[in-house]
Amino acid sequence: MAHVEATQHPLEWDSPLFLMARAQYEQSLPFADISPDVAERLAYPERAVIVSVPLRRDDGSIEVFPGYRVQHSSVLGPTKGGIRYDPEVSLGECAALATWMTWKCALLRLPYGGAKGGIRVDPRALSQRELERMTRRFTSELVREIGPQTDIPAPDMATNEQTMAWMMDTYSMLKGHAVPEVVTGKPISVGGSIFRREATGAGVVMTAERACERLDLPLPEQRCIVQGFGNVGGVAATELHAKGATVVGVADISGGLHDPNGLDVAELHAYVAEHGSLEGYDRCERVTGEELLELPCDVLFVAAREDQLTGENAGRVHARLVVEGANGPTTLEADAIFAERGIPVVPDILANAGGVTVSYFEWVQDLGRLFWDRDEIRNRLADKMTDAFDRVWSVSVEKSITMRQSAMVAAIREVAGALEARGIYP
Ligand code: NAD
Repeated sequence: MAHVEATQHPLEWDSPLFLMARAQYEQSLPFADISPDVAERLAYPERAVIVSVPLRRDDGSIEVFPGYRVQHSSVLGPTKGGIRYDPEVSLGECAALATWMTWKCALLRLPYGGAKGGIRVDPRALSQRELERMTRRFTSELVREIGPQTDIPAPDMATNEQTMAWMMDTYSMLKGHAVPEVVTGKPISVGGSIFRREATGAGVVMTAERACERLDLPLPEQRCIVQGFGNVGGVAATELHAKGATVVGVADISGGLHDPNGLDVAELHAYVAEHGSLEGYDRCERVTGEELLELPCDVLFVAAREDQLTGENAGRVHARLVVEGANGPTTLEADAIFAERGIPVVPDILANAGGVTVSYFEWVQDLGRLFWDRDEIRNRLADKMTDAFDRVWSVSVEKSITMRQSAMVAAIREVAGALEARGIYP
């Protein structure tokens, strides 16, 4: 494969994270039984765009931030993926995340390929008005790339419903009419879907519950630790508590909290709503974010960001099951250690696929201008998540491979089958 040459002469997207995403792909190929030509095509993103986003700060000065959008595969339909604002955003990071989006959409049998984008910026240093101006300019820079039939953004780290409303409005202004279906994760008032905000965290818990059933670990009896207390981790913690599990630890960027008798999740949400983060919460033991991952528990949810479980700390993780709410939180070395220790990992492309699944429902509802109720959406999500989980689990058992490999095999086959049928243009 051409990747041998690529490592000798690195391509722009050959970041450690992208090479990790590609290594996962290559490790799964022997089980996927697809043609070498198709395998070669799918090893690379289709397209990448770099823009520079000038932002007028509130003090009147101009600062310029780099922005990116990478589209990995349009074989199954428009590309789909989040927009993140983070100081570590890079072309290579977006390429890895776009690649995972392709596999995630294919695994869930959604008619999409993967994309990801973002701006390299510390969003906490910006005011709301600065965030709005930056989002609007970024959207206008991407107007030729995004669209309801080409590439559909959604929220990711440090972006939310408001960000999507600004993107939708900017795109609509440039087109001359309202185009709600250009982004998902919007407020309900502009065509967003009921249950989109909760979908990723709820989906994480749906797959965790299914995994627990298979492993004979009833969820209500499990002690859970959740790293990340944002859109994914915060909702997952609430869902776990609602299902009777004991949340013994949580962490956000400010550090970790631990109480072996169980934390009051609702109180933590109220605290974050008031103070912006968990910093300063003192009604339980405080630990560092790193220590949290190694505390005794049954199920560990990593729902913050990539690269958290590594060759260095995976040997000290006590959990009996790891569930990836974040994208790419487990390195290849950590994966090998967990496999050796017999700790199953519900992989990101399965566990956190609830968000893109309800995003798909949102897009379908927008295109049809016909909206569903909460029960319909929750039930459809549960059907999709359990169907995907069961397919992944049975291939993993049948072939004695990890759930990550079996999820990848299922996803690769979906995309490869479509690419074989379409042919590689010209
Ligand atoms: P978010 O910005 O809402 O929350 C991120 C949380 O992680 C915050 O609580 C933050 O303080 C915490 N955090 C960041 N770095 C940390 C660290 N080093 N240690 C401990 N905590 C840390 O973001 P989100 O939308 O919840 O996304 C989290 C992850 O889930 C990302 O990997 C994202 O790509 C993935 N994801 C998100 C969605 C979605 O719908 N939002 C869908 C699929 C996957």
